[in-house]
Amino acid sequence: MYGIVVCPKCMQIQGIDIEGKKSYSCNGCGKRYKISKMKIWNRVKRVEELTEAVTLVKEKKWRDEKMVEVILLGIAQDGGRPQAGCNLNCCVKIQAKPELWSSPVSLGILEEKDLHLIEASRMIGKQLSMIDNKIPKSVWITHAHLGHIDGLGQFGTESMNTSRVTLHCSERVSKNIEKTPSLKLLLENEKLVFGDWGIKNKNFKITPIEIPHRDELGDNHALVIEGIQNRLLFMPDHDTWDETLKCVGFETIKDWLKSLEIDVALIDGTFWNDKEIKHRSQEDIKHPPIEETLKRIGMSEKDDPRIIFIHFNHTNPVFNEETEEYKKVIEMGWEIGTEGMRFYL
Ligand SMILES: [Zn+2]
Ligand SMILES: [Zn+2]
Ligand SMILES: [Zn+2]
Ligand SMILES: [Zn+2]
Repeated sequence: MYGIVVCPKCMQIQGIDIEGKKSYSCNGCGKRYKISKMKIWNRVKRVEELTEAVTLVKEKKWRDEKMVEVILLGIAQDGGRPQAGCNLNCCVKIQAKPELWSSPVSLGILEEKDLHLIEASRMIGKQLSMIDNKIPKSVWITHAHLGHIDGLGQFGTESMNTSRVTLHCSERVSKNIEKTPSLKLLLENEKLVFGDWGIKNKNFKITPIEIPHRDELGDNHALVIEGIQNRLLFMPDHDTWDETLKCVGFETIKDWLKSLEIDVALIDGTFWNDKEIKHRSQEDIKHPPIEETLKRIGMSEKDDPRIIFIHFNHTNPVFNEETEEYKKVIEMGWEIGTEGMRFYL
């Protein structure tokens, strides 16, 4: 007897021999799992039937419950890369290489035929084209800073001209949107309609967690996206680990992620260190540098979730795979986000 399982660490979908076996090693990442702890998506008798069974699970056609697929649509900080007006090496060097440009962070959640979008960046046109160019059914905004909301205008008459797309955001962010005439118009014309902050449907659940971050335009939330097998944390922005951990009531990052049963954490990697910006103070745009986060989390260990850094400032050396900084993250067992990365939840 063979079973189809999805690896919680590397997300590879694979067929494993379950006849009389207690555990197995993932084909993708080598991690060992107890078979009794795994959700078996399908069972087949013969090894020849495995390929088709794996395909069925991949296409999410198995039974009534469906896995959702999450796609990372952008990895840059709000300003994108190249950043407007930057005449430093980081941006000048890539001016003629659009393949190295990066869009501000955003996630797409594909749920059967529907697309749900997390953050509306101004690169939304390019980002939607990475996922069949679907019009989103809902949009989720973590907070009202520029890169996270400046694509909202694209839902209006001048562009997609949508009808009643649900806009999910916190009460304080919604107040801010209502105070902004161009955005208020989108709601008056019902291009967008406010929805609940947090949802649960047949295939997935989204739970916001309040996280301290410069709040001049409203509050900030991380989102936990929970599918039928895996949980993903999306936390592109926060100010400091001390404040964040105090706010959620944990001593360490790993304890917090374990308490939430997170399998994949996409977290703030804006800066490599606190000496990265030379022409202005980094004090007023604080984010915990990756260097500090690495000190706090140490090496990746057996039962740790995947931690993937995102939301990179144009100056961040981890954009380049050849740098020592990039290599250090990988050597410690963690990851740097890339546009187009997919996760099955
Ligand atoms: Zn694996
Ligand atoms: Zn941001
Ligand atoms: Zn630059
Ligand atoms: Zn922000």
